[in-house]
Amino acid sequence: VKDVSDAHGSSVLLVEDDPRIGRALAMTLQDSGHSVRLAPTGAAARAALAERLPDVVLLDLGLPDDDGLVLCREFRAADGELPIIIVTARSDSTDVVAGLEAGADDYVSKPVVGSELSARISSLLRRSRRPEQGTGTLAVGDLSIDLRHGRVSRRDQDLLLTRTERRLMRELATRPGQVVTREELLERVWGYDYFEDTRLLDVHIRRLRTRVETDPSDPRVVMTVRGLGYRLDT
Ligand code: CA
Repeated sequence: VKDVSDAHGSSVLLVEDDPRIGRALAMTLQDSGHSVRLAPTGAAARAALAERLPDVVLLDLGLPDDDGLVLCREFRAADGELPIIIVTARSDSTDVVAGLEAGADDYVSKPVVGSELSARISSLLRRSRRPEQGTGTLAVGDLSIDLRHGRVSRRDQDLLLTRTERRLMRELATRPGQVVTREELLERVWGYDYFEDTRLLDVHIRRLRTRVETDPSDPRVVMTVRGLGYRLDT
């Protein structure tokens, strides 16, 4: 995935089967300066992704020929870096959680508001280019955390973390042993006003734990500080 300085001029693969919604979203995105490829089916989305990697995938979970969650997992498995935003039906909370667990970085709910979508895409792409603060590595048990990029390795074996998981890890690792509040994490990792939303952070923390904890159900590294946030224990 090409590194972009901001959302303008980035390429979006829009996977949406409803032609009316697809056209409206494509127009909104193009108005914000994005180039858009529209894939109305899962098969078309696979072909488009194989042909050329977009900067971001916007993925409707309800597709006629395919399970959007399966597609999301597939895209995530193929490329750990690829930013994926899922589009879900407004009221369906289980969809949001399932989509995030399938590897999505973020989500928007239908009906999609153009300005909100643009803000989320900008925020997701901008993250990769924010000035890196930390340097060096932090040793946590048998883990080694690169403070600049948030990469994690265990006994010289790189762990496979998504871009968002690395970013989350980096925020925690720059202040080891201290509480980083939920609000701070949401603001710094997603860079957008998500303060009301607990699912986004909860699911990503859960995913991060499955990568870095020996026993994710009994975390020793990424600790919950109830009512406040999270703390990286060393
Ligand atoms: Ca649909």
